[in-house]
Amino acid sequence: MEIAKLNRVILLLIFACLLTAGVHAKQPVQGPVKKTCGTGIVLKLSAAAASQGGLLLAEISGVKPSQELSAEWDGRPIPVWRETPASPKLHALLGVDLEKPAGRYEWKLSWSGADGKPFTCSLPVTVRAGKFPTEHLTVEKQFVQPDPEQQKRAEEDQKKMKAIYDTVTPEVLWKGKFVMPLKGVTTGGNFGRRRILNGEARSPHAGVDFPAAAGTPVYAAQSGKVVLAENLYYSGNTVVIDHGFGIYTLYAHLSEIEVKAGDPVDASDEIGKVGATGRVTGPHLHWGLTIEHARVNALQIVQRQP
Ligand SMILES: [Zn+2]
Repeated sequence: MEIAKLNRVILLLIFACLLTAGVHAKQPVQGPVKKTCGTGIVLKLSAAAASQGGLLLAEISGVKPSQELSAEWDGRPIPVWRETPASPKLHALLGVDLEKPAGRYEWKLSWSGADGKPFTCSLPVTVRAGKFPTEHLTVEKQFVQPDPEQQKRAEEDQKKMKAIYDTVTPEVLWKGKFVMPLKGVTTGGNFGRRRILNGEARSPHAGVDFPAAAGTPVYAAQSGKVVLAENLYYSGNTVVIDHGFGIYTLYAHLSEIEVKAGDPVDASDEIGKVGATGRVTGPHLHWGLTIEHARVNALQIVQRQP
């Protein structure tokens, strides 16, 4: 009798384990994930996991035309937008900074029901560590040990960039898809590389590099507004374009800048020429994408509509 009981307990335990395994197996890691929330709102993410420097597309459907929603990504508010004023769908981009520690985070939505009752709903996002190689480079001494004046300039540049990235233009400035910033180029490299410059560890490489001859035309990857067009200490001649809703692209080390701050641009408009200004080892285009302060691999947004 006792043994039969024990067997039953063991069988139950095995069954419970199988059930749990089944639940785990159902959690997709790749491919879109969906969740139906209160008041008919449905959350969708392009994937349940992303690597450091990755990008997730988020969609909220079942939203009434005048309904206000607020979104948070890892506890920080992020913008959501409607393609058209009457659209029942809202969109957002979740950028995963290239140094965001691997782990579990949350994409959370809050809104009010018809009677003012507050609702929240969230989807978990797993951030995986990126596989970034370490590179050793030799650059001019002034770029590793800047003198006080150069240091001051670099700090001022940093403040300027922070002020730009702190600004979220509440407007869709993009049209259609993102394109490559150089003609005839399909891929670039070096994103996320951990760098040792002249033997000293430095911040990881936050952009994509395209080796190209000096003078090669550089094009805007998307329409938007030029918010910076000047020489910076490390990135040399630099252009930054605001695409709206916290999405910015950066083009660095240019030999020539052909736009000025305030200029509206269209995708594929020429904005400058490839060069070797700032901290470089040779002529190339350094292309950066920042989404709500997250430094993301720009190649991930090409041919995508945010
Ligand atoms: Zn670079």
